[in-house]
Amino acid sequence: MTDFLIVEYQDRIGGRLHEVEFGTKSDGSPYIVEAGANWVEGLGGAGHPENPIFSLARKHGISALKTDYKNKMTYDKTGNKDYSKVMDNFAAAMRRVVVQAGSSLKENVQDKTLRAALRLVGWNPAPDNSHAQLAEWFGCDFESSYTPEENSAVFSSVADNATFAHFSDDNLFVYDQRGYSTIIRGEAATFLTPNDPRLLLNTIVTAVNYTDESVTVSTKDGTCIEADYVISTFSLGVLQRDVVEFYPPFPSWKKSAIASFEIGTYTKIFLQFEKAFWPNSQYLLWADPRERGYYPLFQPLDLPGVLPGSGIIMGTVVNRHAHRAEAQTDQETQDEIMEVLRTMYGKDIPDPKAIYYPRWSQEPWSYGSYSNWPPSTSLQAHQNLRANIGRLFFAGEATSQEFYGYLHGAYYEGRAVGEMLATCIEEPVKCTDKDGQPRYQTLTGVTPYDMYNEQHGWSVDTTI
Ligand SMILES: Cc1cc2nc3c(=O)[nH]c(=O)nc-3n(C[C@H](O)[C@H](O)[C@H](O)COP(=O)(O)OP(=O)(O)OC[C@H]3O[C@@H](n4cnc5c(N)ncnc54)[C@H](O)[C@@H]3O)c2cc1C
Repeated sequence: MTDFLIVEYQDRIGGRLHEVEFGTKSDGSPYIVEAGANWVEGLGGAGHPENPIFSLARKHGISALKTDYKNKMTYDKTGNKDYSKVMDNFAAAMRRVVVQAGSSLKENVQDKTLRAALRLVGWNPAPDNSHAQLAEWFGCDFESSYTPEENSAVFSSVADNATFAHFSDDNLFVYDQRGYSTIIRGEAATFLTPNDPRLLLNTIVTAVNYTDESVTVSTKDGTCIEADYVISTFSLGVLQRDVVEFYPPFPSWKKSAIASFEIGTYTKIFLQFEKAFWPNSQYLLWADPRERGYYPLFQPLDLPGVLPGSGIIMGTVVNRHAHRAEAQTDQETQDEIMEVLRTMYGKDIPDPKAIYYPRWSQEPWSYGSYSNWPPSTSLQAHQNLRANIGRLFFAGEATSQEFYGYLHGAYYEGRAVGEMLATCIEEPVKCTDKDGQPRYQTLTGVTPYDMYNEQHGWSVDTTI
């Protein structure tokens, strides 16, 4: 297919693969750091399928460090403190949850929150057990951006198995000075010429009108593009904010699906110091005595094999703490971080010479970092997020049933919808709703109405 247009908000391609310049090298030039995705997650190989993003990383010679979760140092209010045993206990509890979630899925047992599933396997830490809270944050919130209360037991286990068992438990941390999005630019160059008129950069879509015959895309600069088919890859955040007007308005099954899933905020805070004062460990973990998830993780980039001599370290916060940091000034965030780092490394460590962090929750082309699957939904509810409406198709990480949130999820969904459209174009009849992707007008609950009776302690009619 050669007759297509790519309409892109920004002045670059890559989306949430987004390298930025940060800090300075000794020659005055900047370093490149990743504001968006940083890891190739679940590499595969050796008897397992290879993750297609790993294949692309190899093809384009991406520089990356193999992640070693054991290569960590743990701290609390007393300084360096080894609580890795607690972290091992949490990992063991999660393994049990994943096994049980597998049977729940097969046997169609009602889903529950990840919190409930953890309690049932004996993991039930007190809120003031800062070591256990940190262990939990590192094993759950760090991956999904959400707490165990906000995660589905079944589908967080599916996501874990799909990426880290189907492929493998190995991850690569990308530090390539051309940026991780080199893989996107490299692939685009295989079908786009330099300055290709089919790539419209700096073009903001404001409305999409779809009919049985065609789809019209309107942009902020007043252009109207008419197409036989459209693939929307807007993030879930963009769809949820209603910043693009779809006409006719979405049917209720699509509206409900968009409302039912979540997009989290994962914020990396980059600091450059005159020189490194941290140990050569990949993960430096802070168990805050007062607040779960308060600047819980620092990852040195000034590390042998990454950006040695750079003086750069990267902190991570998610959701509630990310929203707070994103709403405050760089200086306010720096002051908070320095208080933590001074407890970890001594009160004499100097202030950084540079700080930068993106505001993912406020970014108008993303409104969040990556999607997550909450409790109280189902495969059908999620399928409704994927399904086409006539000539309007959907793709992107959020539509992936098993790899939602990840780059490889976006890759597989884009490929699947592309292949589907290619068939539609060859045989136009194949693109009606009836022959398109499955969708579910009604999502049924688990309890029939006649069970709401006296026998079950139900005495007041609350349905009025
Ligand atoms: C901080 C962060 C860390 C992450 N870490 C990892 C990781 O380590 N590993 C991993 O696998 N995944 C990670 N992810 C997730 C990964 O980046 C995404 O899953 C993936 O990049 C999503 O691709 P996509 O094509 O679905 O969406 P996007 O990359 O968001 O593409 C959508 C495109 O639509 C454009 N757009 C939006 N609105 C408009 C409009 N109105 N008009 C025109 N164009 C518009 C956007 O500019 C964008 O280019 C991370 C994401 C973030 C933000």
